[in-house]
Amino acid sequence: MSKRLHQHLFPIIDAMVEDALEDLESEGEEISCRKGCNHCCHLLVEVSWEEATELANWVLNLPHSRRERFLGRIRKNAAEARELFLSDKKAHRFLKPADGEEEIPDHIFDRYFYGKRRPCPFLELGACAAYEVRPTPCRLHMVTTDPELCSAESEEQEYETHQRLEELQEQATPVIQAAEKTHLWGQLGIMVEAAYQALIENNLTTKADNNNSEVACDNGDQKTRVA
Ligand code: SF4
Repeated sequence: MSKRLHQHLFPIIDAMVEDALEDLESEGEEISCRKGCNHCCHLLVEVSWEEATELANWVLNLPHSRRERFLGRIRKNAAEARELFLSDKKAHRFLKPADGEEEIPDHIFDRYFYGKRRPCPFLELGACAAYEVRPTPCRLHMVTTDPELCSAESEEQEYETHQRLEELQEQATPVIQAAEKTHLWGQLGIMVEAAYQALIENNLTTKADNNNSEVACDNGDQKTRVA
């Protein structure tokens, strides 16, 4: 089940990151990412179905009012992303270069979405509310230059990822791919919205299979953990 999958995957990713950090420290380098700095939480974040399910499960287990708040943000984020992808020709071109057209380099792509200033729905009070189940891209996103350079307002608009961290991302890819079953990826809000719906439907089905005459619903009295 996806939860167990990521219980295994995240510790592996985190251990790789720890390893890279030790290497960097031994070279006198320092990661400048800090709690409260959230420039990268305004980038386009793509997640797998399993990661989206982790986040959706986190939402599902929140107390009612908090859950509703996050669901509202997730739906808004998904709707905005859909609108952007469908209506903005430039965004569309980033995703699907026309025949013969060169692929847009990642940093320009990131800058474009960053410029739209769409905060991740899990960003709360400047920090990640779902930190323990944040997806892999968020675990690997680290820079060694001044955090201000990550800002869209920065004139230089250039940040560097240390070479060791780039290697880490390359190393992590096969680990992630081996762990993913569905190979289904997408924008965070859209994926979490769909994964949440799937969890609810799965819960309804399980209830029906158990021949329970009560209909499970997503209300304040019900907390459901999908393992
Ligand atoms: S999941 Fe958390 S760390 Fe990742 S972009 Fe969203 S708020 Fe930031």
